[in-house]
Amino acid sequence: MSEIEKVKCLIIGSGPAGYTAAIYAARANMAPVMYQGMQPGGQLTTTNEVENFPGYPEGVTGPEMMVQLQAQAERFKTDVRTGWVSKVDFSGAIHKVWVDDTKEIHADTVIIATGASAKYLGLESEQHYLKIGGGVSACAVCDGFFYRGHETIIVGAGDSACEEAHYLSKLAKKVTMLVRKDEFRASKIMAERVKKTPNIDILFNTDTLEVLGDGQGVTGARVKNSVTGEEQVISATGFFVAIGHKPNTDIFKDWLELDETGYIINKPGSTKTNREGVFVCGDAADHVYRQAITAAGTGCMAALDAERYLAAKEG
Ligand code: NDP
Repeated sequence: MSEIEKVKCLIIGSGPAGYTAAIYAARANMAPVMYQGMQPGGQLTTTNEVENFPGYPEGVTGPEMMVQLQAQAERFKTDVRTGWVSKVDFSGAIHKVWVDDTKEIHADTVIIATGASAKYLGLESEQHYLKIGGGVSACAVCDGFFYRGHETIIVGAGDSACEEAHYLSKLAKKVTMLVRKDEFRASKIMAERVKKTPNIDILFNTDTLEVLGDGQGVTGARVKNSVTGEEQVISATGFFVAIGHKPNTDIFKDWLELDETGYIINKPGSTKTNREGVFVCGDAADHVYRQAITAAGTGCMAALDAERYLAAKEG
């Protein structure tokens, strides 16, 4: 068996929340160790251009921004490692964490920054254009701006889909909303707002069969009415998916309080969880804002909370 490693501050996850926590923890002499997880850099690595993160007047690509955040964290000696945290035990004062089911770490403080993953339809064509940054997106607030004056499609019927459809309608020439049932799941007020918006066209009972494109970018979608069986092609250069998110918190469910969707519940106004010395930041605890800048903000808070916790413990 490999030796148990002891660390002061372990950060799980490497999106903007994790890296910001690392920068603050490293500068506070906490010698943070970060495990990057399955998707180093997090959700931003599937985003094209980030234009709304303050400090980048010309914008920056998601992957580029994550490389810079990593460099900044490493400049202050954060130990950034590849690896996936597969199990935790938060029962005692020392927090036990296993990496890749083998390596065991004992941490005084743990900062969880494992984020959330947007759900996608899972169509091959959708994944193709998502991977090449060719017009598939799960975030209208991030990417809607690139479709000014274009035709767009959005899939979903919850509050997020309605909110994002409304956001898109102010930028795009037309928004076609694809709802798989004959009704919205969204609150009445959100659904009404969408229904009243003239450039939002709602197609109920409609499933996406294929995202269409020219190999480089999206040109539309082939859809089918599940009641009549009728198929049609809708033209669009942007295909937005707003069918929910899944927080990456499964390994914590035996130890931390989660809400019904799996988001970690933090103590209001802080990043503290129900376990002393375990802190959460970013989308793992946030189903409302979900922005890089808000994740970074809570990453900073988590490092400060962890530092204060250690200072109080060490007397
Ligand atoms: P939800 O889980 O509420 O809704 C997901 C939607 O996606 C449902 O309408 C569902 O359809 C649809 N869907 C799921 N899978 C598919 C699929 N394969 N194909 C087509 N459609 C699919 O997620 P949201 O992200 O909208 O909201 C999450 C939470 O955040 C909710 O509690 C919501 O109220 C809240 N929220 C609140 C906001 C606000 O108040 N301003 C803004 C945004 C979110 P179906 O209905 O058929 O199951």
